[in-house]
Amino acid sequence: MTQRNTNKASTPDRESVCGQDTAHLAPLADTVMLHQLVIEPLQHLCALAREQGIELAVASGYRSFERQLLIWNGKASGQRPVFDSQGRPIDMNTLSDRDKVFAILRWSALPGASRHHWGTDMDVWDRAAVGDDYRLELVPGEYAPGGPFARLGAWLDSPEFAASGFYRPYFQPNRRDDGVAPEPWHLSYRPVAQQFEQCLSPALLAGVIAGSELSLKDTVLEHLDEIFARFVRCSG
Ligand SMILES: [Zn+2]
Repeated sequence: MTQRNTNKASTPDRESVCGQDTAHLAPLADTVMLHQLVIEPLQHLCALAREQGIELAVASGYRSFERQLLIWNGKASGQRPVFDSQGRPIDMNTLSDRDKVFAILRWSALPGASRHHWGTDMDVWDRAAVGDDYRLELVPGEYAPGGPFARLGAWLDSPEFAASGFYRPYFQPNRRDDGVAPEPWHLSYRPVAQQFEQCLSPALLAGVIAGSELSLKDTVLEHLDEIFARFVRCSG
């Protein structure tokens, strides 16, 4: 039987690495859960941002395996749209199973391999930069010069942010072009996240996926080493 991960400092177990355990989490707000060791560093980060006139808000923190599975299966079945690198919708019926898998992976993590499973990662925006009725899209243009979150985007490039312990795993200069699409809004708290990262392997992932109701499961398992290299082991 799996030991419950109730000790804050313990090595993450398979369930907490793959989004199947919530014992290490704590609430940040009504709707967001994060790793309990990330709450305080994030509050410190928010205080630093506030000095720059930025009100850091978390749009998405912890996400469970089941939630990621719903997203994946919705895309595999065509119920949710899948987009190409230019953001144009793809007709999934025209693709081979292999091409379907890699099309989904451009924008969505494989269930079991999402960094959001860990509670160490979050998508952020600047509440001070937009009105109450602003509809957050989480597209790179919002964080680029001229976008509503340009000031936040620039601050996330600053030495002050780099010294905070947080970094942007999907927005590294050395990122590979055939991996996850750039996500300037996705932050990770490195001291805790790297413990999860070290535990995640193709073998562990294969075990979790084999026991799940994942659509395109056989194709995913067949190409798991390539998927892991391109879409999971992506962070610097
Ligand atoms: Zn994210």
